[in-house]
Amino acid sequence: MRDFTTVTACGECCTCCPKKLDGRCPGCIEADGMVPEWAESGGCKVHACCKRHNVQFCGLCSEFPCAGITELIHWKENVVEQMTALRDEYYAGDN
Ligand code: SF4
Ligand code: SF4
Ligand code: SF4
Repeated sequence: MRDFTTVTACGECCTCCPKKLDGRCPGCIEADGMVPEWAESGGCKVHACCKRHNVQFCGLCSEFPCAGITELIHWKENVVEQMTALRDEYYAGDN
């Protein structure tokens, strides 16, 4: 079963990311969204939004799927479908 404590706000997992493994990135959760990729823009907005809504990832948010999610997570095709599947997996487990 998936360990949801490592799932990031946008639905990723940093554990096996090559950038984390070689020390280029501390990881999203560990860095509280202030990863090198987003440092110049003041931190990851997805991470910040989930924090504001007190949820681990967007699929668990009461506003999901909010109007801004496809733009906010623009690099993921079918973000709503992916996030819905992740949410269903979360609730299907003992979470
Ligand atoms: S920093 Fe933002 S985009 Fe990167 S994994 Fe975390 S939530 Fe996703
Ligand atoms: S936040 Fe860093 S460790 Fe996590 S997926 Fe992005 S680059 Fe990899
Ligand atoms: S679903 Fe929308 S409002 Fe909720 S945390 Fe994600 S981006 Fe923010």
